[in-house]
Amino acid sequence: MAKWVYSFGDGRAEGSASDKNLLGGKGANLAEMCNLGLPVPPGFTITTDVCTHYYANGRSYPLELEEQVNAALDEVGRKVGRRFGDPERLLLVSVRSGARASMPGMMDTVLNLGLNDETVEALAAEAKDARFAQDSYRRFIQMYSNVVLGLDHEMFEEILSDEKASRGYDYDTEFTAEDWQEVVALYKQRVDCELGEPFPQDPQAQLWGAIGAVFSSWMNPRAITYRRLHDIPESWGTAVNVQAMVFGNMGETSATGVAFTRNPATGEKELFGEFLVNAQGEDVVAGIRTPQNLTETARRQAGSDKPSLEKLMPEAFAAFAQIAEKLESHYRDMQDLEFTIERGKLWMLQTRSGKRTTKAALKIAVEMANEGLISREEALCRIDPAALDQLLHPTIDPNAERDLVATGLPASPGAATGEIVFTSEEAEEAAARGTKVILVRVETSPEDIHGMHAAEGILTTRGGMTSHAAVVARGMGKPCVSGAGTLRVDYRAGTMTALGRTFSRGEVITIDGSTGQVLAGTVPMLQPALSGDFSTIMEWADNTRRMKVRANAETPADARTARSFGAEGIGLCRTEHMFFDDERILAMREMILADTQEQRRMALSKLLPMQRTDFRELFEIMAGLPVTIRLLDPPLHEFLPRTEQEVAEVAASMGVEPERLRQRTESLHEFNPMLGHRGCRLAVSYPEIAEMQARAIFEAALEAAKKTGAPVVPEIMVPLVGMAAELNFVKGIIDGVAKEVLAESNASIDYLVGTMIELPRAALNAGAIAEGAEFFSFGTNDLTQTTFGISRDDAASFLDEYRRKGIVDQDPFVSIDVDGVGALVRIAAEKGRAAREGLKLGICGEHGGDPSSISFCEEVGLDYVSCSPFRVPIARLAAAQAACRK
Ligand code: PEP
Ligand code: MG
Repeated sequence: MAKWVYSFGDGRAEGSASDKNLLGGKGANLAEMCNLGLPVPPGFTITTDVCTHYYANGRSYPLELEEQVNAALDEVGRKVGRRFGDPERLLLVSVRSGARASMPGMMDTVLNLGLNDETVEALAAEAKDARFAQDSYRRFIQMYSNVVLGLDHEMFEEILSDEKASRGYDYDTEFTAEDWQEVVALYKQRVDCELGEPFPQDPQAQLWGAIGAVFSSWMNPRAITYRRLHDIPESWGTAVNVQAMVFGNMGETSATGVAFTRNPATGEKELFGEFLVNAQGEDVVAGIRTPQNLTETARRQAGSDKPSLEKLMPEAFAAFAQIAEKLESHYRDMQDLEFTIERGKLWMLQTRSGKRTTKAALKIAVEMANEGLISREEALCRIDPAALDQLLHPTIDPNAERDLVATGLPASPGAATGEIVFTSEEAEEAAARGTKVILVRVETSPEDIHGMHAAEGILTTRGGMTSHAAVVARGMGKPCVSGAGTLRVDYRAGTMTALGRTFSRGEVITIDGSTGQVLAGTVPMLQPALSGDFSTIMEWADNTRRMKVRANAETPADARTARSFGAEGIGLCRTEHMFFDDERILAMREMILADTQEQRRMALSKLLPMQRTDFRELFEIMAGLPVTIRLLDPPLHEFLPRTEQEVAEVAASMGVEPERLRQRTESLHEFNPMLGHRGCRLAVSYPEIAEMQARAIFEAALEAAKKTGAPVVPEIMVPLVGMAAELNFVKGIIDGVAKEVLAESNASIDYLVGTMIELPRAALNAGAIAEGAEFFSFGTNDLTQTTFGISRDDAASFLDEYRRKGIVDQDPFVSIDVDGVGALVRIAAEKGRAAREGLKLGICGEHGGDPSSISFCEEVGLDYVSCSPFRVPIARLAAAQAACRK
């Protein structure tokens, strides 16, 4: 008979940590904790296979499930000396989801299940605390009605506020047992009135309702969004964990909390967390009461006057600290823990690898490797290369003036500036318009994930370091300030008020997620640098990787940034990008619009000295490192004059009538400029352009070599080659100029001529092309465009739809399409190398900075990847991980 249910408890479990796929992360780790002999309330896990079966069979369960669940529930009862549904020996349970990958806040939880009008009395008698029992019952009704019956949470909060107000209470803690009993009655009435049937009293019906709700929530919109954002396959499914209840709300000797074995924001080796006395789990994350610190050190640092757990419940704290240490060394990773203390007795409810900021991830990886807990290779593989982006964000200049509006918690580091928006929808709309925004909310919920993604930063007025906003922002690498309690948000008025100052929607603020400050206006920022643990990891990565990492850069500023991030040369200098500034674009337009060769040569003679200076500077900054300069590849439409004023300007400079110039502009109009007169085609039509550029490159190389004393070996790259003859034609021009320059200067100069491979024809004929090329650089932007036949400038409008409908998993312009574009890269690499031994191979499309594409490049055996300067550290790490995997 198939096994659908796995039990755990009393120091034994049917599963273990290795059963994550079957039991989900939470279930597998609960089993593992039991196996380690830790205090875990007994329970059982309904497997992810049941979820798969549920969706494959019209939302129905396997036949044997009910029997297996009942047997497991009986076993739980035996372990704790109770029986589910029996008021004499009351057993209450929690029902929680637990997918394979943790999906915080995505799925739903029901606590105190099994309570009804009769058992609540039994609970009161047993606990000798009627208030506690009634409070637990109202919580259960509230949670169950929301999660299982689909009623709005606010509906119950409203009743609660009304009851509080009518009694003149400020806090929930002022409610008496009788008050709660009245609230329970009102809740039940409301359910009856909304649904036309009473709140379910039968514990069995409650249990199956909750199990069904967990499985259904796998397909709720926020879970679907989360999976899409994190590439979690729908087929994985979720498990359901049913566990005997322990109560953190059984009076002043009970508590509940969450903790990390190291600080998730900084990585510091210290127990870090929060707890609430006399509370249930949801209270800590909901941010309604401000939680207390776990340790005395943390309490002192936070300047809190509320006692720490260490002080308040020293025995339970000591037991917990010991367990935390044990779990960290067992899992060999920083753990995120949940616990409850019921009348002084500690219970562990969860352990999992903790989410952390990238800064913390680096520190933890480096320290764990140094502690000998993990190897250096493991340390490298523990860091998500894409997440390094977080550290490459600006921080507020320490010398900047700060117009402080409020201070909250430093929930996720980095600083961000943007216009205030109050809803996730506004954030998305603004981001789509290219406007940078800060999402300001009282608190965030899973429905806000898309808005948080779109915003530069997140600011909340409620919630602690483990609130939804804080956890999710840290995961996303977005700056976040949470719990800025002196701020008042009025959604209806569209305002945020602090200490008498009012800020409206659209006004600019800056948040500093590293200090928790909220500042008015824009504030000067500092650019990031690699140091400390970051540079240690980079050093380890450099010792591990095989591929070189270069940068795509053309300005001196970009080249310097690239070097400071560890680039080992320039893999692509797009020369057309060097002509965008006002003075230059005029000369460039003259060149493009010239009617005659003479006119063109005149414009080119203006461009020559500019180019020479540009190249010399690049060679000097990159002293001793390779620099690949690509000949002009302008989609012409990007350079043509558009406005009347622009036309007039160019006409005046060329000494021609504006009308003639307009005609010439029109004659240059192309229906499809991306597939038009660009790349090497321009050099074929106008060899004088390539001549000018080659001359500027050689002269600059000689000047730079003289200045730095180091030889410069320029790599000249011909774009958009489809046929060997095109390359050979342009190469002829370059070689001719080289001879001229050498004759003039009497100096010898080495150089390479190579080509971009960015058309399918070039890839398929790479053997013939390699005869004339000393290197290939895969231009996978154009290669993706031309392989798919999808315009790279127009793809966004429909590719998103393709992703949503599951037609493509990844945007092929972001992550290389291994089956199509990748196949062409493989063919070209093989044919090229067969024709020319030692042919140098690189990639310079956007994919050169994308970790999964970099992994593909390692497989194919490319010599280097080239990416934008800010992605260089990401590429260094991704290349190291790819080498480890190989
Ligand atoms: C490419 O096509 O991949 C490339 C690097 O060139 P560009 O993006 O300039 O067309
Ligand atoms: Mg290209």
